[in-house]
This record gives sequence, C-alpha cells and structure tokens, in this order.
Amino acid sequence: APSPAPAAPQAPRPRQGGPAPRALTPAEQATRQRVLAVAAQREAERREQEKISILSAAEEARRREEEAARQALEDAKAQAIAEAAAREAAEAAGTEHVPAALAVTTDEAKPAIVAAPAAARPVTPAVRETLQLKPGGRPAGADDEDEAPRGPGGVRRPATVAPKRGVPVAPAKKLGDGNRRGGRIDVQAALEGADEKVRSLASVRRQRERERRQAELELLRADGVKVVREVILPETITVQELANRMAARGNEVVRALMKMGVMATITQAIDADTAELVVSEFGHKSRRVSDSDVEIGLEGEADEDADLQIRPPVVTIMGHVDHGKTSLLDALRHTAVAAGEAGGITQHIGAYQVKAPSGALITFLDTPGHEAFTAMRARGAAATDIVVLVVAADDGVMPQTIEAIKHAQAAGVPLIVAINKIDRPGADANRVRQELLQYEIVVEEMGGDTQDVEVSALKKLGLDKLEEAILLQAEVLELRANPDRSAEGAIIESRLDKGRGPVATVLVQKGTLHQGDTVVAGAQWGRVRAMLDDKGANVKSAGPSAPVEILGLSGAPVAGEPFVVVENEQRAREIVEYRAQKLRDRQAAAQTAGRGTMEEMLARIQAGAQKEVAIVVKADVQGSAEAIGVVVTKVGNEEVRVRVLYSGVGQITESDVQLAKASDAIIVAFNVRANVQARELSKSEGVDIRYYSIIYEVADDIEKLVKGKLAPVHREKFLGYAEIRQVFNITKTGKVAGCYVTEGLVKRGCGVRLLRDNVVIHQGELSQLKRFKDDVKEVARGYECGLSFAGFQDLREGDVVECYETEIVAA
Ligand code: GDP
Repeated sequence: APSPAPAAPQAPRPRQGGPAPRALTPAEQATRQRVLAVAAQREAERREQEKISILSAAEEARRREEEAARQALEDAKAQAIAEAAAREAAEAAGTEHVPAALAVTTDEAKPAIVAAPAAARPVTPAVRETLQLKPGGRPAGADDEDEAPRGPGGVRRPATVAPKRGVPVAPAKKLGDGNRRGGRIDVQAALEGADEKVRSLASVRRQRERERRQAELELLRADGVKVVREVILPETITVQELANRMAARGNEVVRALMKMGVMATITQAIDADTAELVVSEFGHKSRRVSDSDVEIGLEGEADEDADLQIRPPVVTIMGHVDHGKTSLLDALRHTAVAAGEAGGITQHIGAYQVKAPSGALITFLDTPGHEAFTAMRARGAAATDIVVLVVAADDGVMPQTIEAIKHAQAAGVPLIVAINKIDRPGADANRVRQELLQYEIVVEEMGGDTQDVEVSALKKLGLDKLEEAILLQAEVLELRANPDRSAEGAIIESRLDKGRGPVATVLVQKGTLHQGDTVVAGAQWGRVRAMLDDKGANVKSAGPSAPVEILGLSGAPVAGEPFVVVENEQRAREIVEYRAQKLRDRQAAAQTAGRGTMEEMLARIQAGAQKEVAIVVKADVQGSAEAIGVVVTKVGNEEVRVRVLYSGVGQITESDVQLAKASDAIIVAFNVRANVQARELSKSEGVDIRYYSIIYEVADDIEKLVKGKLAPVHREKFLGYAEIRQVFNITKTGKVAGCYVTEGLVKRGCGVRLLRDNVVIHQGELSQLKRFKDDVKEVARGYECGLSFAGFQDLREGDVVECYETEIVAA
C-alpha cells in the first residue's frame, strides 16, 4: 500500500493561502482523493478514540468521586486516631516534647508525603500532618491493643512492643532519612487498623495475635485461672533458660530483673533466690532443686524388664595384708591365661575378666583391699557385686579382715569367704569359720548362708570351686543389664600416659560402649578414640560388666566416678563445666569451713533432719576404742542415736576417711593421727577428724552434737611436726633428739606428743629446744633443732614429734 505520509503534510498547504491555485492534473486529483479518504478515515478513528476517552473520563470522574468519599471517611477516622496518638505521645514523651515534634513534623513531613507515591490521594495536608505525629513513625491503632497494662514497672509488656514504642523516634528524622516508604506504610497500617472492611490478611493475623496475647495477659492477671507453671530452679540458671521455663521472652525476664536492680544479660546466670522472685513476679510457682538439673536425664531411662540380660558378676577381693589377695587374683587370672586365652600377656588395666570352666565370665577388679572399694563407694560407684574375703587359714581373722567385713556390710554387698593357704602346715579352716561368727558371718557349713571355699593361691587349689561359688552367688543376685542402650558405668582407674594421653579403665555397667562414643567421665569428657581389653587387644565395643581401657578423654578422671555416654559434645561440655564448678565450690567451702561434716551434721540435727550421729573410731589400743564405743553409744537419746560405724586400732588411713565420707560420719581419733594421704583426703572431702586423748572429752563432744546445742570447741591448737633424724645419748641430760621441722613450728614449753606410725606413744612437755648449742624460743619449718622430753627417754629415729598449744575456747 502506498504510504500517504509524504503527501499529507503538503496537502493543506494550498488552502492556507499560498500562490494562486492552478488546475490539478488528473494524477494530482487522484492523489488528493486518496489523501482525503485517508484523512476521513483518520478523523473517524480520532472521533472513535475521543468517544472512548470521554466515556473513560466519565468513569474516571465517578471513580474519583467514590474515592473522595471513602477518603473523607478515612480521613475522619485517621484524624481521630492521630489525635489520640498525639495525646499519647504527649503523655509518653512529656509535655515539653510535643510542641517540638509538632513543629518539625509540619515543616518537613508535608513535602515528603506529597512526594510519596501514596500521597496521590486527596488527603488534606492537615490530616497528613497529624498522621505523622505518632512517635516512631507508626500511627496508633496497630499497636495500641497490644499494650498489656503494665505490671509495676512495665514488666509484663510483650517484648516485641518495646523497640517500636520504647523510645519515641521523631518522625521528621525518619522522613528526613528519605525513608518515605516507612511513612507510607504507617499511614496505610493506620487506615487498615482503623477500617475493618479494607484490612489485609496481615492485619487479620495481627489482630488474632493481639487477641491471643490479650487472652494470655488476662490469664496472667487473674491468678488461679491461668495455667500456673511449675518452674524448676537449679542453684543457678541463665536468664534465657529461666525465660524458656516460664514460656516467657528473654527480654521480659531481663526487664523484670532490672526492676529488681539486677542487671543481667540473657546469657548470664542468676542464683536461685533471684530466679524465684522473677518466677513469682510472672505469677508462676517455683520448685528448687538442690543439684543443677544439668545432670537430670543423664542416667537415661530405666530399662524394661524384657530388655535385661544376664551379665557377669563384678568381684572385689578383700582381706588382711599378706593373706594372699594379690596371689589369688594372679592365680585366677593365670589359670585363665594358661587355659588357652590368646597371647598370654597380661596387661594391668585395673580389672580383668576370666572365663570359668562353664564358660561364664567373671569380672575381677584387681585393686584389692577395702580402700579402693570404699573409695569407689564414696564417689557413688557401686561397682562391686560380690566381695571375696580372703582369710589365711594359718593366721585367721585379723584387723583388716574385720575392716573389710565392715566395709562390705556398710555397702550391703554379699561376701564369699576364701580360706586361703590351706596348703600351709598350720592351716585351720575351721578356726577361721569359728572366728568369723563374731562378725555376723555365718558360713553354710555352720548353718548360715555365706559361702566359703578352701583355696590355695600358691598351689592353685580350689580356684574352680571359688569361681563356682561366685557364679552361684551371681545367680542369686540376678545380675542383669540391658546391653542395647547407650553405655553407663564407673571409672576403675586412670592415668596420664606419656604417649597416649589420658587413659582410663572403665567398667561398663549398663548398655554397650562403642568406639567413637562421646562420654562424660567424672569431670572429664571425650570421644572414645580407641578401646583396649585386659589382654591389650583393640576392641570396638564393650558390653555390661566388661572392663576396657579407653583413650581420648580430656583428662584423667578420678577412680570411682561414673561415666556415661551422651548424645553430643555440647551436652558433654555442659555437664563437665557444671561438675568442675561444683568441685571448685566444694573445695572452696572445705577450705573456708574446714569442718564441713561436723558443722553440716550439727545443722541437720538442729533442723531435726538428722537422727543419727555416725562415727568412725580410731584409737591407739583396742581397750580405748572399745571404751569410746561404749560411752558414745550411751550419750545418744531417743531423737538422735549414735552409731559407731567402725572402730579400730592404729593410724587413720584414707580408707577410714572414705568410709566416713561414704556414710556422712566424723572420725574420732584417740591418741592416733592421720597419715598424710588421709589428712589430705579429709581436707578435700570435707571429712572432720577430731583428735582426743581423754575419753570423757570424746563423750562430751558427741553428747553436745547429739543435743544439737553447740559445736564442740577446739581445745587444742596444732603447732607443727618435727621428725626425729638422729638420737643422741648425752650423759647429763639423757636422750636428745636431732630433729627436722617438717611442718609449722616447734615452740619452747609447748605440749608435745611422740608419734610412732601415727600412734601417740607419749604425751608431755618439751624440756629443751636448741639450735646448735643455743636455747631458742622457737624453730620454724625447714630447720633442724635438738629436742628433749621431760621424763621420757624412749626416742627413736623416724618418730614424729607433734607440737601443740592448749587454748581455752568458750563453749
Ligand atoms: P596380699 O598382701 O593379701 O596381697 O598377699 P600376697 O598375695 O602378697 O601374699 C602374701 C604372701 O603369702 C606371699 O608371699 C604369697 O606367696 C603367700 N601366699 C599367698 N597365697 C598362698 C597360699 O595359698 N599358700 C601359701 N603357702 N602361701 C601363699
């Protein structure tokens, strides 16, 4: 089609008056016709267009009218809201603040609003201004219903409201930042909030949320109607955790604390007393738990009966020194090794398993003696199922035999008597059985139910019978465990190995321990990097009653502490941190109090919570020990009785401290002293050792304790220890001891006791104290001195001189 465009512009020109018209050529006429036709067509199109635009204009006008009407309604509402907002802003910000805000807004808000896309609406400037008055750039309405009536200090306000409303932000600043959108959204939000008909989905959601919160707050206010939570409070709790337990927001808790004058962040820990106040402020009930519930759930769930399977018994061998404990352990083990177990190389890991002829396994803890046994028990590990009491047939029941019996009885663990050395010429098994009767051990042969087996560790006689007896006892005990769960158990031994790092032998008591498990062992943790059995072989897993050496712990845990597999490292760290803190607390307490057990006991008796005073008596001679036992039992009354857990002769050992610790007892030391290890242990464990040399004083103190009246007073002040290095015989003065002061100091005229193996063999006064040739007043630790005793000559090398002063302390 020929384009009309080039002709069209020229066509009107002749009409607009130019040179005289001349006749058109036919070609020109034809062209003209064409042009006119096109023009007519164009005009028609234009008309049509115009018609449409007129129609749409009408439509537009109508629409505008409607919009104006609606806007007028909205304006009126917005005006009302804005006025309310202004009032509130004035209240919140203080009256002098308002005019400033107003002034700023009227100047700057206008152009901003006009420039904003939403400002196309015919909103009157006045309304626009007032709408912008809301502090924080957010008009009233949307939030107002959120506002919980504040508790005193505004504690109960939902935390989300705070950032928007807490600090009034001048709207001018917001708009000045060029944040026009913020302004627009706020206007719209105001309108949506005000007009139910046009509100958006988001606003519906907000409304629901408001209603929900309102309902919650309603409940909060009406005590008793609300779901009052029981909030469990450990000794310390982090703010976040406390908030979680109350189903409250962290910020609310922080604010509640602030109100109480406690500035704490969300991650900080607060004590239970403070937490209790917060809990009651929130209208909940609190329940204090003594131990941090970090440990709660650590033991895992109780096993179903159906899941339990028979497990090997765990045996500890006890008995008097030289009665053959070690020999018996070796004999049992070597028979097993000789009987064809791989390698034959035995490895000491603190425990081992043997296979009885029947094929059944027995686990032996190979730290013989009641010390280790009670040490473990004091730490809470009830690792031993059966005690084998070794008594030499040629020696009979001896002091440590009795101790072992007491320890086993205190723990409620059944005994099997192994009458050893029956190969010896002087062996008399019946005498042993007879002697045991005194200690409530009645063997089967004498009509009782304690098994006894005659053995010879040296000649390897009767070992299979002993194993049989153990397995029979195990059957009676119905020892069972669930192997299909995560492992739990006890630390048997641990050490720091130069090449391998911390190495611990653990006894699995429940479940199965696998290589790669994350474990918490006492105050240590780690991933089990490798496991070795008692033959030194690598193993991948260990089931109930199996002892294994594990590698990969963070440090060497203490024997007797429990170990448990946890789900992840974080949990492990959490528990270990808590335990380490607890240990530090206890040590600090032991250091400041120094007399932990005694004072705690007194407090418990005073509170009526304790009905028994348990004591361990150690004396220089049997007669004294018995006499003390009799007098202290007499001072007990109906309310509080006195129980002598154990009474024995000789120095105080770690074993005594462990026994006292395990039973919350105090130790009465009569003319005996604690050895160094026992002293250290008593300090760290907070076990009280009371030293006496007059029986009625023991009775006095215990009586006071029973009556819960007052703590016994220290009548004596310890000064120091000196060790006798050499004894000189000097004609004029008699025996003079050349000493070295090992602890504290030695003073002229002080009271002294001579200790031989920690038993007091003499008590008196110093007659002389010399350094070289000179008399001196006192000699301090680390120096040598010469001592002589008034009226006492039996001085020996290695004896220890204990020096003390007597103080009268008002009771
Ligand atoms: P422990 O202190 O209880 O561990 O006793 P030991 O196992 O060290 O044994 C002390 C001594 O008794 C050692 O010299 C052993 O050789 C010896 N002994 C142990 N058992 C027997 C036995 O059955 N018969 C004989 N004749 N001697 C034994």
